[in-house]
Amino acid sequence: MSEQNGAATTDAGEAPPKVVVRGLRKAFGDNVVLESIDLEIRTGEVVCVIGPSGSGKSTLLRCLNRLEDITGGTVIVDGFDVSDPKIDIDHVRRHIGMVFQHFNLFPHMTAIENVMLAPVETGTADKAEARRRAIEQLTQVGLADKADAKPDNLSGGQKQRVAIARALAMKPDIMLFDEATSALDPEVVGDVLQVLRDLAKAGMTMVVVTHEMGFAREVSDRVVFMADGYIVEEGTPEQIFDHPQQQRTQDFLSKVL
Ligand code: ADP
Ligand code: MG
Repeated sequence: MSEQNGAATTDAGEAPPKVVVRGLRKAFGDNVVLESIDLEIRTGEVVCVIGPSGSGKSTLLRCLNRLEDITGGTVIVDGFDVSDPKIDIDHVRRHIGMVFQHFNLFPHMTAIENVMLAPVETGTADKAEARRRAIEQLTQVGLADKADAKPDNLSGGQKQRVAIARALAMKPDIMLFDEATSALDPEVVGDVLQVLRDLAKAGMTMVVVTHEMGFAREVSDRVVFMADGYIVEEGTPEQIFDHPQQQRTQDFLSKVL
């Protein structure tokens, strides 16, 4: 890689970064929960965000699609200035898939109906096209045979995979995962992580907040360690897990590894 390219040394080449966060600050009233956050994510990059509970991981993710109002700084996603109050945020959100700890599927709808809903409601696909795509997405998460099942008849891991299929149905350019496996029984965590792994391999740009350190080490291009509203340290999995530079990172890892 030539030196003029600076940090852009992956196969993403000259492509502009997918996410650019500069000086992000977020306060709830007097409580500042994110401060001086700088983060760049390249196309196809998988970034895992780790850190103690309450450190601001979820809030950071939620600022990326402005589920939280941004107190200061800028957040650019896919070239859109999410921090600009005048932007059409619904339009931007269509490019951003998000998966939460609790899947919030509609209980009265089948798996495939849950997956079809957003494309039909936003008018990005007619029903036939949405159904065709939904089958594709359910197949991608290994649940083609559960298309007509209601959420009550699915395991937690299957529900979470439907939730991932639902996010994929909008053909997002970036996927945000907030502790997607934290509420699951241990025996189904692996199935959900496998879906994330497959997505990563397929080149999806992903920001993954996770407590699964083994997964973070294996799948991340970059690991971001947060504490007390700051990014304390970031680097490759080897740098963060094997050679953490900051005491705060070392303390955290000594407790979770
Ligand atoms: P993490 O995901 O790392 O556990 P969060 O982003 O959920 O951390 O929370 C960071 C801090 O922000 C915590 O102190 C939390 O209490 C506070 N916080 C999060 N959401 C809200 C909210 N809606 N109102 C007030 N405080 C909040
Ligand atoms: Mg959280």
